[in-house]
Amino acid sequence: MIEFQEAFDIVTSTDLRAGKEVIPWTRSLNRILASDVLSDMDLPPFDKAAVDGFACRKEDLANDLEIIETIPAGIWPSRKIERNQCSRIMTGAPVPEGADCVLMVEDTLITPSGRVRLTIPFKKENMAFRGEDAKKGEVLLCPGRLISPQDIAVMASAGKVNVEVSIKVRIGVASSGSELVEPEKVPTRSQIRNSNSSQLMAQIERTGATGKYYGIATDNEDQTFEIVKRAISENDILIVTGGVSMGDFDFVPSVLERAGVKILFSRVAVQPGKPTTFGLHPEAAVFGLPGNPVSSFLQFELLVRPLVYKMMGHDWKPLEFKMPMREKFERRYADRLAFIPVRITGGGAVTPVEYHGSAHISALSGADGIIAVPVGKNILERGEIVSVRPI
Ligand code: AMP
Ligand code: MG
Repeated sequence: MIEFQEAFDIVTSTDLRAGKEVIPWTRSLNRILASDVLSDMDLPPFDKAAVDGFACRKEDLANDLEIIETIPAGIWPSRKIERNQCSRIMTGAPVPEGADCVLMVEDTLITPSGRVRLTIPFKKENMAFRGEDAKKGEVLLCPGRLISPQDIAVMASAGKVNVEVSIKVRIGVASSGSELVEPEKVPTRSQIRNSNSSQLMAQIERTGATGKYYGIATDNEDQTFEIVKRAISENDILIVTGGVSMGDFDFVPSVLERAGVKILFSRVAVQPGKPTTFGLHPEAAVFGLPGNPVSSFLQFELLVRPLVYKMMGHDWKPLEFKMPMREKFERRYADRLAFIPVRITGGGAVTPVEYHGSAHISALSGADGIIAVPVGKNILERGEIVSVRPI
């Protein structure tokens, strides 16, 4: 059995890397950027009005100003501002030559002779200056970014309509267990529904990878072998759930070895998820995750997700919030690093969700995050500050 940190280091030090492809920027949400996005022009491209009002010269502000034209957004001004002149201007329109400020319409009045007068002391220019957000050629986004909607707006403003991203990691999913039936079926007395596979497929989708489902392998070595062999040849990562414990029919590890996988670990001092198994095949990384749905969920988050991001060039650090425990938490054994699903309560504290063991999947769906309890620690005191990682 190895410590969790060692397992994490083994998984994330594999040197598998995804390739690159160019796609339309509108399709790039949640993908990992693979090359710089540069600005193809100064941003903003011209000095522009930040408010609706009057463009004029600061040195004339003691006087009433003559209005010489109206400049809507999207139109280039036709007149230069001279002494004691101004142009009516709309937010986003180019500031005319000669002007060095824009008076907010709310800060002015129109005199009976139709001139503009500032009614309060001058405060600020109310202009966005050419190039103040970015200069032409400036790097706006760096490789390795997980692309957000805001990044997509940055690409749009820079004219970056074709963007290079990492190719989605391909992940095969198979479930092992003769007791499993697919969710569409009503289980017989001795069966249960397969909840891991669809959960994993959703986790894969959320991570920005591509999942392919290979079905249920019964506890039969040859059938499991065929599925494993095919899934390895078609994917960058294979996840098999179930069949990695100490039962008479838990032969996923031996099947993996027969398929050419070199097992790097098969027991981790983590709870839940002790039988978590990881190995490498020349064509793919392979995880054998415990069949319990809570274990499978957590081990994906803890080990698979960081590897997927690493392969795509993204240095992923999960968010963590410091919060106090709402009540005391106690555990009997402290020989493993434990991950406890918690709920964030109204008062800004966390409370462990009621949880009867690693098959209690509905408890997990009521959790907002997980907290880690280190090896050797039995008690978290009420009020003790813990790091909460959202799930
Ligand atoms: P195993 O890891 O095969 O020993 O399975 C551990 C527990 O998880 C058993 O109670 C299984 O019935 C259950 N289990 C295994 N695979 C799944 C699955 N795909 N969906 C739901 N429960 C599962
Ligand atoms: Mg089983």
